[in-house]
Amino acid sequence: MEGPMIRLSGVSKSFGGVEAVRGLNLELARGKILALLGPSGCGKTTTLRLLAGFESPDAGEIEIDGRIVAGGLPRRADISPEKRQAGMVFQDYALFAHMTVAQNVAYGLKGVMRGKKKDARVAEVLGLARLDGLEDRMPHELSGGQQQRVAIARALAPEPAVILLDEPFSNLDAALRAEVRLEMREILNAAGVTAVFVTHDQAEALSLADEVAVMFDGTIVQAAPPEDLYYRPANRAVAEFVGEANFVPGTAEDGRLRCALGNVLACGDCAGNVEAMLRPEALSLRTLSHEEDTGPGVWATVLAREFYGHDQLVKLRLDSGPVLCSRLGGGPGFKPGERVAVEVQGPALVFPKP
Ligand code: ATP
Repeated sequence: MEGPMIRLSGVSKSFGGVEAVRGLNLELARGKILALLGPSGCGKTTTLRLLAGFESPDAGEIEIDGRIVAGGLPRRADISPEKRQAGMVFQDYALFAHMTVAQNVAYGLKGVMRGKKKDARVAEVLGLARLDGLEDRMPHELSGGQQQRVAIARALAPEPAVILLDEPFSNLDAALRAEVRLEMREILNAAGVTAVFVTHDQAEALSLADEVAVMFDGTIVQAAPPEDLYYRPANRAVAEFVGEANFVPGTAEDGRLRCALGNVLACGDCAGNVEAMLRPEALSLRTLSHEEDTGPGVWATVLAREFYGHDQLVKLRLDSGPVLCSRLGGGPGFKPGERVAVEVQGPALVFPKP
């Protein structure tokens, strides 16, 4: 079938005086994974609940798999959650504690299929979610990651068009999260399902999603693939929320920027007085051997360093004043007080001056 799997047009929802979401427009292609990313209270969960059918929009239209499931004119649709072809995975997984893994997954097929067909489908999704051998365990006998896979298997069992996941990693400890992220992506891709998940963690959104919709204050500020979002954020707020960013004032003209870091390449649609954004990894550092150094770069003093093993974040003050951050590979560290030359790698993204 042609067309997007999910389409939101002008969707708004208020609770009393609070506008939880305002005029949302969004499309998601079939088989893609979308992250709804934003700070607490920006409307992510409301958007997910509107898609699931647990809330009805005050205005606008929601379409899943070419069918209007909520809103629309002249007759407002309001298809119930179980008839939306949308499987939900709750934040706490909501597994039935008194049922085995296989029984939990089979529950997802209640009223959909029976007998041998049902058993075969349960076995198939257990395999897909890498739960073979665990079918007779009870939920409390599983790790957090395994419990999550049971919840996903249960939601996938009836072959929904869409799967909706609310903060899927919030119940897992930090060490497990990165591992489980990749695994979840593989399972969703293998199932060929279209997925939407909610998160306030930019690393989760960038690493797992094909598309990320950044929400602030009830609206989608930018929806784009992770690389675009990171390298071409729509504005300063998105740049700051999605990763770390340095901002320096400057003057842009003909693809060049003059700023405290020298004369550097610029991209972006504005000229004149601008604000330039550089990711920390775009600033390379070289130790100054002596104060007569004539090599490239502008001079600075290291203020502090955070060492992460695989990389390090160095905070420094340019001799001209601005305080910036540089991200470098691991290896020997720069020490506070050390004199360095800072060089820009690649273009700076310029925004109109606020
Ligand atoms: P979080 O990350 O903290 O879960 P969120 O981005 O998911 O936040 P929502 O839960 O969608 O945000 O809430 C958006 C706004 O709508 C908030 O101001 C919230 O207090 C309000 N809100 C959400 N649901 C209700 C409700 N049922 N009744 C009243 N206000 C609500």
